Amino acid sequence: MFTQSVTTLSGVGAKRAETLASLGIFTVEDLITYYPFRYEDVQERQLTEIMDQEKVTLKGIVVTPPVVSRFGYKKNRLQFKMKQNDEVFQVSFFNQAYLKDKVVPFEELVVYGKWDAARASLAGMKILGSGQQSDFAPVYHVNKTIRQKTLQDLIVKALELYEQQIEEILPQSLIDKYRLLPRSQAVRAMHVPKTHQEYEQAKRRVIFEEFFLFQMNIQGLKAKERDAKEGLAIHYEPNELKAFIQTLPFELTTAQKKVTNEICADLKSPKHMQRLLQGDVGSGKTIVAAIALYATKTAGFQGALMVPTEILAQQHMESLTHLFEQTSLTVALLTGSTKTRERQEILAGLANGTIDVVVGTHALIQDDVAFSHLGLVITDEQHRFGVNQRKILREKGLKPDVLFMTATPIPRTLAITAYGEMDVSIIDELPKGRIPIETRWIKPPQLSDALAFARGELKKGHQMYVICPLIEESETLDVKNAQAIYEELQQAFPDFAVGLLHGKMRPSEKDQIMEAFKENETQILVSTTVIEVGVNIPNASVMIIMDADRFGLAQLHQLRGRVGRGQTASYCILVAQPKNDIGKERMKIMTETTNGFIVSERDLALRGPGEVFGNRQSGIPEFMIADLVEHAHILEVAQQEASAIFKQSNWNVLPEYAMLHAYLVQNQQQNGSFD
Ligand code: ADP
Ligand code: MG
Repeated sequence: MFTQSVTTLSGVGAKRAETLASLGIFTVEDLITYYPFRYEDVQERQLTEIMDQEKVTLKGIVVTPPVVSRFGYKKNRLQFKMKQNDEVFQVSFFNQAYLKDKVVPFEELVVYGKWDAARASLAGMKILGSGQQSDFAPVYHVNKTIRQKTLQDLIVKALELYEQQIEEILPQSLIDKYRLLPRSQAVRAMHVPKTHQEYEQAKRRVIFEEFFLFQMNIQGLKAKERDAKEGLAIHYEPNELKAFIQTLPFELTTAQKKVTNEICADLKSPKHMQRLLQGDVGSGKTIVAAIALYATKTAGFQGALMVPTEILAQQHMESLTHLFEQTSLTVALLTGSTKTRERQEILAGLANGTIDVVVGTHALIQDDVAFSHLGLVITDEQHRFGVNQRKILREKGLKPDVLFMTATPIPRTLAITAYGEMDVSIIDELPKGRIPIETRWIKPPQLSDALAFARGELKKGHQMYVICPLIEESETLDVKNAQAIYEELQQAFPDFAVGLLHGKMRPSEKDQIMEAFKENETQILVSTTVIEVGVNIPNASVMIIMDADRFGLAQLHQLRGRVGRGQTASYCILVAQPKNDIGKERMKIMTETTNGFIVSERDLALRGPGEVFGNRQSGIPEFMIADLVEHAHILEVAQQEASAIFKQSNWNVLPEYAMLHAYLVQNQQQNGSFD
């Protein structure tokens, strides 16, 4: 590994080093492994072969002068036409008027953007140049402080100096088994491939290496956790716990039993539990949480259950109060709207240990909340919590065990990757007797048919949710929309009571509305997405989701999970007129399966993890070349190989892994992730 600073290269002074640092390049190693994200010639595409909404690089001749039009507040659009072979297409850049000078009529241009087939138009994202670069010209992610060409030259120079010295880090056995290119050849070929085939092989090797090193790091962290024993050993009372489980209103499903055992084993062990509990909507995670909290209490520790919304907190409070009714366990609810006096009492109870379990929103992590002996922290719908919030809560106790629950299931490989050092438990069956929700997708003009159908359900005594479109820019617009739909439905259903719920209401108001729906005083509830998580009203059998294509599939699946919670057949009607093929495909996915894992898998395949989870925040690492979805099979292989290596307890002293180990250790010294 070339740990020397880039400043050792001629032509790199302090200023340039700073620029490179902004790209995450500090050492020579960083520089030569800063791979291009595409190549000029490899990926230029023909108009005739592009799919709708595909991101592509197109080369053509500019055939009209560029025109900038301004609209709204500080908005502009740059537009011009290009020709490829004999096809003319439109190119438009939004708020990038400064690119105008690069667009010269009758000259060649290479643009990168998203293709809209219906309009034969490219929504431009980048101008990549005039098309005069050499074959296989690499294209790097750069920023304003460094030019493409400058970076290219630097990398070529570094390769000339160091290529011969690039050492192999993968064990020979893996190189042979998967017929991988030697590292030195692969690194060079990523930047300057001699042939397309060489590039493909280099890429395969690099993807494997990226995933494999990542997995080695994770396994390293896990092994460290396993050995550290620095967590709490929560010695619960098995007999008391069994007795408690006997009092539950139903028999646990096999899957619930399995994950309960996994969690209990973690509690007991001195290892610091970090477990992700995945289970589809309605699979019964709350009960599992209750059992874990109860176990914790029998060992003399306190537990906290943290949820993202007030409504969900109240509902959990109700379920837990009910489940713990016949026990001596004390539960308290702490949210933003807890009154000052009550809040003081709860804080005192938590600090002196008289409260066993606290349920709450982010109000749980305020500075003045202190626990006497916090043993277990459970977060529900954890994807909505920032990493920091979880950390703060965790730090309030002596490394409490942590259980993350989520109803947004993601494929196992991705879970392992996203949640790195966490263990994963999965509830993969629903309680018996559930009738799968029937989902239909209709176009807006058919809405009246849907309402007629809904009327039938209401007449049978059931209730209905109507979810209003999500308007990304503005919560105020959301509310306005909801208000309009609310009024329409009051007109359309004069014989039923309609309620309205939205995010701008005061918590007490929201409560009243929810309560009324729960008590069947209102039969129709119009709501923005505040209803989304966890709400449990079994008598509701119909959900209509307006403008469904504006929602993420995970969110639609969550929403849909609000019905089908009782013993009757339930229906989810998606009203949408998607603008493109991907949108249509997404609606179809929803109608084809009620299995959250399949929904997320197909959504991922369609849109990629970045779009599905939102980057960074999701905790899903970003790889340079590897793609979690496209290369999932390689990820799986890399994971198996890494864990096979860790099974040899002395692997780090075996000659075969000497280079690998040295590389990981050095990497750790730089990034702080391995030892
Ligand atoms: P989720 O996993 O979505 O949080 P919940 O914990 O809210 O699901 O459970 C959904 C519903 O299923 C609740 O009404 C709960 O009482 C019920 N339930 C949970 N476990 C079982 C079971 N083993 N048998 C029957 N019903 C169950
Ligand atoms: Mg739940």
